[in-house]
Amino acid sequence: PSSNGLPSVNATRTSTPTLHPHSFINLEQGDPTVFESYWKKMGDKCTVVIKGSDLLSYMTDLSNVCWFMLPELRDAIERLHRVVGNAVTDGKYIVVGTGSTQLFQAALFALSSPDNAQPLSVVAAAPYYSEYPEEVDYLRSGLYKWAGDAHVFDKDGGAYIEVVTSPNNPDGSLREPVVKGGKGKLIHDLAYYWPHYTPINHMADYNIMNFTLSKCTGHAGSRIGWAIVKDKEVAKKMTRFIQMSSIGVSRESQRRAAKIMEVICESYENVMHMRSDKFFDHSKAVMTERWDKLKKVVEQSEVFSLENYPKSCCYFTGEITETQPAFAWLKSKNGIDDCESCLRGLKILSRGGIRFGADPKYARLSMLSREDQFNEFLRRLSNVRGISNGH
Ligand code: PMP
Repeated sequence: PSSNGLPSVNATRTSTPTLHPHSFINLEQGDPTVFESYWKKMGDKCTVVIKGSDLLSYMTDLSNVCWFMLPELRDAIERLHRVVGNAVTDGKYIVVGTGSTQLFQAALFALSSPDNAQPLSVVAAAPYYSEYPEEVDYLRSGLYKWAGDAHVFDKDGGAYIEVVTSPNNPDGSLREPVVKGGKGKLIHDLAYYWPHYTPINHMADYNIMNFTLSKCTGHAGSRIGWAIVKDKEVAKKMTRFIQMSSIGVSRESQRRAAKIMEVICESYENVMHMRSDKFFDHSKAVMTERWDKLKKVVEQSEVFSLENYPKSCCYFTGEITETQPAFAWLKSKNGIDDCESCLRGLKILSRGGIRFGADPKYARLSMLSREDQFNEFLRRLSNVRGISNGH
């Protein structure tokens, strides 16, 4: 994989449909193709027809703070959170973005001010999502700057923004702010706060909560994210940022996202639906199966170990369950210092711990690949017995 996170030549080769035993398996990115088979099974249920005469205007709903958001998407987002019970939307503002990547940057813009003498420090507890440092510093903004691991941040240095990612990417931990007692502002990145990844044990109710269709339903290509925002002025500034960077968000994508959310909600609101047809029941079962298989393989391994996750009651499913993250955070043991290189030796592409502000003994691997890739990954992992450093 290239340093900018985009697929390298090898990685592109792995996306061919037949898996050759000598080809690389690319689990470096969290591409959510695992859900493709479910949506294929849904056939035409989510098909959206868009006529040539539809959606010509820049303008959508000038009465809304987020004037480029389709009212049907806003309704669908509120309905989805009501069905799942994972976030409070009442009395809040919703801002749609081109993925939550755009909304993260919109939030940084909204929380900072040109009147500040110094750029605002942006921190996240390590291991943090590897894209945050680059997204913060890429344009060398005078408004904010990346200040690294929140655990070692000196809050007396002034105002700051802490990004709280829960469940966390890469390690799946459930998190709260780490910097205590400071004058910090918070951005909650809740990309993975959905029942297939973790028990839904509280209604999230924070100032800025970012969600994304990419990790919720797997439709990463539609590039739809949404922020639930408490403060009107912050929502206005986020909207202004999106106006300046892309004059809004594709309405075709918004329509598709709304349709997909409506179909999911309908399946939970209508008692006639079979369990296996309901998206979160299906996706949760797939994640449970994958995690069970991976844990069995790693238990036998002399080379790798995995995190343990706490159990709690999920109000959505009514069951006691464990977090089953979208990524495996694998740690190499027995004197192997570089997990990523070790995996590369097995022709498995992962993202090494250093990118997340962590030890190179760790590597992150996607649990969201297609079935054949996942099974081949397990096969390669289970074939390893003793490996010495550098092989
Ligand atoms: N936040 C986290 C924690 C993520 O893992 C991702 C995707 N990998 C994003 C934000 C961005 O998602 P998107 O732009 O596709 O909405």
